[in-house]
Order: sequence, then structure tokens, then C-alpha cells
Amino acid sequence: MTEKSYGGNNGVREHHGKIAKDKSKRISVLKGARKEKISDNEDEEFSLRDYKKAGEIAAKTVEYAKDLIKPGMLLLEIARKVENEIIKFGGNVAFPVNLSIDDIAAHYHPTVEDETKASGLLKVDLGVHVNGFIADTSFSIDLTEDKKYKKLIESSQEALDSALKILEKNPECTLNEIGKTIQETIEKKGFSPIVNLSGHSLDAYTIHAGITIPNYSNHNNNSLEFGAYAIEPFATTGEGKVVDGPSSNIFAIENFKNPRGPTARKILEYVSEKYKTLPFSLREMQEKFGPMARLAMRELEQSGIVHNFPQLVEISHKPVSQAEHSFVKTPDGNIIVTTR
Ligand code: MN
Ligand code: MN
Repeated sequence: MTEKSYGGNNGVREHHGKIAKDKSKRISVLKGARKEKISDNEDEEFSLRDYKKAGEIAAKTVEYAKDLIKPGMLLLEIARKVENEIIKFGGNVAFPVNLSIDDIAAHYHPTVEDETKASGLLKVDLGVHVNGFIADTSFSIDLTEDKKYKKLIESSQEALDSALKILEKNPECTLNEIGKTIQETIEKKGFSPIVNLSGHSLDAYTIHAGITIPNYSNHNNNSLEFGAYAIEPFATTGEGKVVDGPSSNIFAIENFKNPRGPTARKILEYVSEKYKTLPFSLREMQEKFGPMARLAMRELEQSGIVHNFPQLVEISHKPVSQAEHSFVKTPDGNIIVTTR
């Protein structure tokens, strides 16, 4: 998943919901005895061991998906198999696997009726969690016969590599430096970064936890504090901006209220137990609760209990590539890339 920016962010962690704790509490956790606890990798708010395990499973699932995907395969089949593989490896699905083609930059997931086949420039963006600690990673794959997206795919991959390199060399580097190297790497190849999509901080059961990591030079001179993050450059031959498209059929709970309909009630119970506030798909609800699921999801959305994530579409309808890794910045300031 990715984060669409709606305005400035000064790099300071904001308070988000019940699960993400505020900054002062996170920092107090680091002091004294609790710091020892973190190096033992056991904490309800931060477990390095679980971040690493989620990352290993995500990396193995990426390899599986690269082998699996062939032009013409149903996205539905890919989605089912990739998510099953995460579970087989011992992980949990942190969000529905995003399978976004061409000018759809992110947030496409098939329903059970969807007959869309893999083609063109496909972005596979998958998430794994272990006890709520998330690995978020993605790759792009060129399914055209003449491999016409090779360079575009290389540009987002190289932008990611160069951002991680800068960060590993100097973990105190600024967000501007990260964004600048992403932008320059992509522009040197003749493409544009998508400026209103960004990387983000991760928290327990929270994919977008308040901090954004820019894909362009934004003059933000904050550096990252201790925590988990994802960096995800997007490159395009188009203008370099996304707008909201139709519903992705990916949802997340935002309000725990009682729905009227029995199926809606069952879905809410199932999702709040299994995913808490993490995203989930209409597809899984259709598979689990049958044909009533679509109507029930509409009820949940209309009563403000869940919100949907719109597809994010490149404004000039040009193809988009993406690359993404997750990493942890430890209390000692070391960078550990979990999904590589
Ligand atoms: Mn992602
Ligand atoms: Mn992400």
C-alpha cells in the first residue's frame, strides 16, 4: 500500500488512533530498562524480531510471485495464491495484495467477479504482518512482449536502491536528501517521480503511521527517528501525479459501531478480530460470506463504519512503475532493511 499526500508533513509523528502511540510515549519507552527489552526484541509496540520475520516472509513471497505471474493470468488467481503463500510461510496478510496495471499506480484488488488479466506494467505490492509488525514491499513486472517498460521499472528500482544506500550510509540523513536522490535517479532516466505518493512510517497494526517519506526534494530537514518505515518510489512517463479513481474494493474499519444487517454484523466481527484496523478486501468477504457480502460492505461503508481506498490513477493516464522496501531504524540508529 502507499500513501497519497494531501498536504505538507513536517516529518513529526502525529497521534493516530488507539493503536499507534504518541511520540512522547514512544520515546519514554526507549529509556532505561525498556530499551533492553527492545534489544531482546519483545515489546507490544515494537518487536525487531517480528519485523524481521515479517520481512523474510515478504521477501520469500515476492520470489514466489515473480515465478507465478505470467501474462494472461487472472488477477483473481494471483491474489488468492499470493495471499495463501504468505499464510503458508507463517505470516498474516497485512493488506490485500495490490495488483495494479499500467496507469493505475496502486490500490487495485480484484473481486470474485473480476476477469481482469495480468498484462502491461503490473505492480505487485504485498504486506505481511507478524503480531501486527508489518513488512510492506513491492515490485514491478513487465508483461509486454517487447519489454517496453524495462527502463521505467529500472528507474524506480534504482531510486529505491539509492535512497536505501544514502540512509544506510548516514541514518541521520534528512527526508529531503532521501526524496532528492529518488527524484534525481528517476529524472536522470528521463521519467518523473510521482510527487503525491510517498513512503511512510509503520506501527503495530498500522500501515500509514503518520510520517511520510517523500519521492521528491521537499526541503524537509527532519531525519527519521527510531521506528519502522517503508520507502516506495513511483516513476512514470506521465505528469507525475495521481488522482483518486474508482473504489479498490479494499476497505478498513474506521469506526466500531453496530451495523443493522446480519451479514454486515458478521463481517465486522470477523474483520475486527482478524485485521483490527488493517485493510481487507471485498474479495475475501465474498469468499467467506457469499453473495450478500457486497451489499453488506456497502452498508458498512454508508454507515461510516469502514472506508474504501480509492484506486490511485496517474493523472495523464501514463504507465507507472513502483519499487518498495521496508526497514527498521533501531534505537542505536542502525538501518535494517527487512524485506530485501
Ligand atoms: Mn506497499
Ligand atoms: Mn507502502
